[in-house]
Amino acid sequence: MASSHTVLMRLVASAYSIAQKAGAIVRRVIAEGDLGIVQKTSATDLQTKADRLVQVSICSSLSRKFPKLTIIGEEDLPSGEVDPELIEDGQWEEVLKQPCPSQYRTIKEEDLVVWVDPLDGTKEYTEGLLDNVTVLIGIAYEGKAIAGIINQPYYNYESHEKQMLRGHRSAATAGPDALLGRTIWGVLGLGAFGFQLKEAPVGKHIITTTRSHSNKLVTDCISAMNPDDVLRVGGAGNKIIQLIEGKASAYVFASPGCKKWDTCAPEVILHAVGGKLTDIHGNALQYDKDVKHMNSAGVLATLRNYDYYASRVPESVKSALIP
Ligand code: AMP
Ligand code: MG
Ligand code: MG
Repeated sequence: MASSHTVLMRLVASAYSIAQKAGAIVRRVIAEGDLGIVQKTSATDLQTKADRLVQVSICSSLSRKFPKLTIIGEEDLPSGEVDPELIEDGQWEEVLKQPCPSQYRTIKEEDLVVWVDPLDGTKEYTEGLLDNVTVLIGIAYEGKAIAGIINQPYYNYESHEKQMLRGHRSAATAGPDALLGRTIWGVLGLGAFGFQLKEAPVGKHIITTTRSHSNKLVTDCISAMNPDDVLRVGGAGNKIIQLIEGKASAYVFASPGCKKWDTCAPEVILHAVGGKLTDIHGNALQYDKDVKHMNSAGVLATLRNYDYYASRVPESVKSALIP
């Protein structure tokens, strides 16, 4: 019997389960101890065994179930047989309980583009800053990011470790503090789930930005925003989580470097709760399959008060960043 659920909601439900498996792979590679680090374009542009395995896991799992999707992932896919252990076939039932927004009910599989960042925050992953890491699956339709899934494999790891040290070996005996990792998901017009929305302190300018890819444009732009505090953390997914959980008021990255797979899923989560993500000029980002991957004109994102930050971007920074 054909499923009564729409293609979009079935895809999101599958991507949720696939992102959870991805999180487990990210943890397993750390537990096994051999990260298999490879340099890509520079010493701050790295790939690990986890980036490679998760890329295969996500892309193969999605394309087996949804063969007509366009899937664009950060890493190159190796040729050859896929280890069946990497395939996830489940779908998260909580997603299927939600209604598909009416404007997306007739979307066909071949109309969707999926942007995959198997591991966002790789530099930080290699340095043991594990809670900076996320797995990002973004879904675009007609060039617009409309659905997104973020798995944060090491969410809650400090409480988890404490509980384990107290002798609780399983989540069943240890209670909710012991749960390691989480999945946040959202669809435009429906909302975002899997976290508690919180606003940053009113009247304070707390800026979150890169810790490993900074340069003069990035720091000039932030200085012009009169920050009360600057948080330098890894990962685009992680920085959007800081915005929706009230830890930062703006994500500012006035530089090329960030790609479509970094922004697609995080943008949806932010937009689904009323925030805004653009390039540094204020242009919406495009996610068609033929678009260039680089977000050449940087990223500016807020949950509230977007206009203040946009108005502070110096002309010198704008003219240096061509979309
Ligand atoms: P960051 O805020 O530095 O963690 O960057 C967010 C995302 O953009 C990560 O996936 C980075 O790998 C990527 N990124 C940003 N700047 C660069 C760069 N200069 N070279 C390579 N990747 C970058
Ligand atoms: Mg990334
Ligand atoms: Mg990555």
